[in-house]
Amino acid sequence: MLAAQFIFMLSSHSTETKTILIPSKGHLFIACNLMIIIAMASAEIWLRMMQHYHKQAVVICGFIVSYLMYFVLEPFVDGAQMTLMMPIMIALIYFDQRLLYYLGVFSTLFYSGIYFGLERPLLDKPLLEFLMVECVFIVFAVMAQAVIVRARETREYLEQLTKSEQGLMVERAISDKLLKIDALTGLYNHKTFHEYLDSLLEQCESNGLRLQLALFDIDNFKRVNDTYGHWVGDLVLKEVAAKVNGLIGLNDFAARYGGEEFAVIFTDKSFPEAYAAVEEMRVGIAAMEHPYAGGKPITVSIGFCDYQLGDGKEMLFRKTDEALYSAKRGGKNAVVTAAVTQGDDPVVSYA
Ligand code: GH3
Ligand code: MG
Ligand code: MG
Repeated sequence: MLAAQFIFMLSSHSTETKTILIPSKGHLFIACNLMIIIAMASAEIWLRMMQHYHKQAVVICGFIVSYLMYFVLEPFVDGAQMTLMMPIMIALIYFDQRLLYYLGVFSTLFYSGIYFGLERPLLDKPLLEFLMVECVFIVFAVMAQAVIVRARETREYLEQLTKSEQGLMVERAISDKLLKIDALTGLYNHKTFHEYLDSLLEQCESNGLRLQLALFDIDNFKRVNDTYGHWVGDLVLKEVAAKVNGLIGLNDFAARYGGEEFAVIFTDKSFPEAYAAVEEMRVGIAAMEHPYAGGKPITVSIGFCDYQLGDGKEMLFRKTDEALYSAKRGGKNAVVTAAVTQGDDPVVSYA
């Protein structure tokens, strides 16, 4: 707008025109332009420096700029009143319906004041022009209202979509968990155990990660079931599982491997550390009290194996199973460490 005015002045047209303000020889335009720049700069500074009243600053600046622009344009441009709709657009920027209402009413009333106070007495503008401008104000406000309503509907739709997506994520997490966890004991199930072990063994082979496997089998469990009933057997399984789970470290992994068998994978532990943990579990389980199962201790036999690089999963299991079998054969309630090379005797630790 400044550039247009500058060109206009250079082209030697007279700037003396009949305006709603006092007759001017250019200085009036300079004052108006200067005030526009000051208003915009002040609003910009306010938005950058202050924390509050941003909307109000923009609205006030919008009003000042639009009316000053109107005064500058009015002598030269037909329908310059359109610039007076600028403040109404501020409500659109914020999608604020209440602001739209206030700005719409204020703009309509303010323009009435300008028309009847200045334009009609000084410029003799026809009433029809005033009515038309007011109508355009109203139509514009109604259109802006439609845009705001549409924006609100879109936002609500998006919110709903986000909510149902969150719900789906929660459901997926729950069903994921259900797929991985054994319902009775809360430990990981057989399938998850094997998946996890596969990936750990890969890491062992590629990064030299340390790993130990322990297979637990509850001793004489059939007798517990036969003597006290299946539900007592279930209770014992739960308690033994909770004990194992309570004693494993953050980097260890416990699973229900079979009916009354559990498996624990130790990572990031040295062989003696893992062995000590297994032994602690065996002693801890044997010390538990089960009043509903005749008060007799429930014990476990444990096969324990330190993974040797290159062995692979099958060999790891064969060695651990052999160790478990030795523990059973040797009288149960014991931890037996698998021999490092097959054929050697397993190392036994009895209670
Ligand atoms: P051993 O000391 O040689 O391990 O003897 P055991 O009696 O523990 O071994 P066996 O394999 O003969 O019996 C295991 C029993 O575990 C048989 C089965 O009824 C029981 N069992 C398996 N799963 C469950 C279960 O989920 N709940 C209950 N209550 N019992 C189970
Ligand atoms: Mg068994
Ligand atoms: Mg058993």
